[in-house]
Formats: sequence, C-alpha cells, structure tokens
Amino acid sequence: MKRALLFTALFLTSLTFQSMTVTKKKANKVIAHRGAWKNTGAPQNSIAALEHAIKLGCYGSEFDVHMSADSVLVINHDHTIQGVALETTPAAQLSAIKLSNGESLPTLEAYLNAGKKQKRTRLVLEIKASQLGKERSLALAQKCVEMVRKTKTRSLVDYISFDYDVCKKVKELDPSAQVAYLNGDKTPEQVAADGLYGLDYHHTVYKKNENWIKEAQQKGLTLNVWTVNDRSLMDWFLERNVDFITTDQPELLLEITQ
Ligand code: MG
Repeated sequence: MKRALLFTALFLTSLTFQSMTVTKKKANKVIAHRGAWKNTGAPQNSIAALEHAIKLGCYGSEFDVHMSADSVLVINHDHTIQGVALETTPAAQLSAIKLSNGESLPTLEAYLNAGKKQKRTRLVLEIKASQLGKERSLALAQKCVEMVRKTKTRSLVDYISFDYDVCKKVKELDPSAQVAYLNGDKTPEQVAADGLYGLDYHHTVYKKNENWIKEAQQKGLTLNVWTVNDRSLMDWFLERNVDFITTDQPELLLEITQ
C-alpha cells in the first residue's frame, strides 16, 4: 500500500514537472536582432526584415535609430551607410539611399507605421549613442519618444540603449516606458533602483556574473540577452528562464521553444 502511494506521488510529481516544462517551452522569448534577415535575404534593419519577423510570430523585432544632421530619425546599425555619415547628412540626402532590396533607408516614422499594422510583435527600439556628444544622444532620445507618441505606438514599443543617461532620459519623458540597458556594467540593484524594465546584456556578461540572473529575477527586472545564435547557448539561457533572447536566428529559436 505504502509502495503504491509512493508510486502515485512520484507519478504526480513527474506530471507536474512535465507540464511546467511544457509551459516554460511555450513562452515566446524570441527577439529578432535587426529584424529577420539572415534566413530571409532581407537587409538588416529594413522594413522587409521587420515584416519577416512579424510573419514568423516573433515576440519582438529589434532595430537601431540614429538622427540626421537636421534631426530626422533613421534606421540603420552603423553610424554610416554606403560611406555616408548619418549624423552629419541632411535627411533629404539620406532618403535617396537605397538598401539592397530597393527599399529606401527607413525613417523611424515609416518603420513604426509599418510595425503598428499588427499588435503581436513588439518593436524594440535601440537608441544609438551619438558620436557627436551626450547632448545629441539625449536629443535623439527625446525625438524617439516624441515619434512614438506621434505614431501612437507607445503600447508596442520597448526602448534599449547602451547609454545609461539615454535610458534614464526616456523614463523621465515617459515614465511608463519599458526601458532596458545594454552595456552590461550596471548591477541589477542599480538598474532596479533607477526604475528600468530590465537588463539586456551580452551573453558573456551573464556567464561572468551568473548571480545577476537570479538577482534580476528577484528584483522583478526582465532579462534579455544578445546576440545568441548558437543552439547550445540558447539552451543555457532557456534553462535559466530568461525572459527574452535576441538572435539572428529567430527561426531556430522559435523551433526549439514552441
Ligand atoms: Mg541594436
């Protein structure tokens, strides 16, 4: 009898464990890094790459924002595109630049308007630090918050930045905004004290400071990690139940988590 009870208890425990594992696996944690470009052929940071990430059903799609000489916001990773410096060139000239798929260099306005045609995939807006000084980085932060308001995409946008002052500026301008810090040099305690949404650090930072994962989770911060393209590294972070994984391989991560 005792034995039968023990077996029943073990069976129920294993069922609970299995259902927990299934629940954990179902959560969509996939953030496409610069959109879904690697397996689709779309250029990085193009509206086409965003649309592919949306079609895949990613939780979020990340993109990078710079400001032209005349304060128009454009999407690109580097500070230059095809040899043209974004920050010192007027928007009229930048708008003539074509990406490899024929798309014009997207403005933030066009990008957000494309993204808001749906409600499932979040728009993860990285505010790039200016090469021309802190004042310009903060002006860019302000312009981004204004554009998000103008396009009525506040409920869809999360902000990220390597510049901690930029993160704090966004929170000051929109206290309900979800803002995560990228640079990896602040403890969960500091980030929580400043009211940010979470940590979004390079995978090596978490490997070096593994205790930060639990600490952040206890403080109610979200955890995002970049840029994880390798299956075994994805598994390492999934086992630690991070909230999001930013990847150039959204198809692979969707396949193993859904
Ligand atoms: Mg980025």
